[in-house]
Amino acid sequence: MYAALEWSWVGDRLWAGVVGLGWAGSATAWAALVTVVAELVRLPLAFWRGFVRERRWGFSRQTLGGWLADRAKGLGVGVVLAAAAWTAAVGLARALPGWWPAAAAAALALAVLLLSLVAPLVFEPLFNRFRPLGDERLAGELRALAEAAGVPVRDVLVADASRRTTKVNAYVSGLGRTRRVVVFDTLLEAAGEPEVKLIVAHELGHRRDRHVAKGTLLGMAGAVVAVVVLWAALGTRVASPRELPLVLLLFTGLELAALAPGAALSRRWERAADRCSLELTSDRAAFERAHVALARKNLSDLAPPQLVYRLLFTHPTPPERLALAREWAART
Ligand SMILES: [Zn+2]
Repeated sequence: MYAALEWSWVGDRLWAGVVGLGWAGSATAWAALVTVVAELVRLPLAFWRGFVRERRWGFSRQTLGGWLADRAKGLGVGVVLAAAAWTAAVGLARALPGWWPAAAAAALALAVLLLSLVAPLVFEPLFNRFRPLGDERLAGELRALAEAAGVPVRDVLVADASRRTTKVNAYVSGLGRTRRVVVFDTLLEAAGEPEVKLIVAHELGHRRDRHVAKGTLLGMAGAVVAVVVLWAALGTRVASPRELPLVLLLFTGLELAALAPGAALSRRWERAADRCSLELTSDRAAFERAHVALARKNLSDLAPPQLVYRLLFTHPTPPERLALAREWAART
């Protein structure tokens, strides 16, 4: 699709609509247009995977209107980010033809850092509403768990995920004073207290081992690599706004290349967080109940094909997780 926008008459036609706006206007409008076209091309598959299939399997509680509204919000965020990034890139390449790669690499790395810092606070409220956990005793115990993990939190919040899904989850977001534990209301509905604690302990494990910070650093390094590849492939052609689809094509290639190592690293971090959840709660029974329930509820693939596992599985399979708990129990 990016290739079509770069080289075919379709791309030329669309480009003709934005070419007369000056370099900054063209870059902004072209980035917005390419982002919207990419979304339209992806929409049928996304609709099938994210709406039809989720409903058929009983995960989704969203109406079509709600699903489309979520997609539109995501697209809005994407258009703004793409337009800002591409206009900045073209501007840099024009202002500093000699060493735009250095400036662009620094700017992109900084953007990754900023996004990872503000994203939870800015984007989460776009999709969910949050309220403090009403059960003070449970909230206190979750805070105590966070204390024990060495990552104290101030707020324990409940997200109204049940508006859109039956899937259960919890996560820790924010930094320093804004750090908070967020529990899906679906998790509170579906699981007993020991399981809720265990799942929160798993998320605290990610925090204790600084997986978000490390992931952000890797993302920044990835941004630098991406700019170097771009520079090698395109040189000063980046100064021409028209080349955006080629840039996105290159980035997509890099993303595909990063899929297997990224998934392997993610599985490693998940295992570390699983071990942390066992250490913090000392509750192997809850671990087994929680992961069996999760696997059932999310209809997890227990034995995926090797290639699928290597490329796409960001979490260990349920049998692997139960084996980890057995090993942990044998050691302690
Ligand atoms: Zn995890």
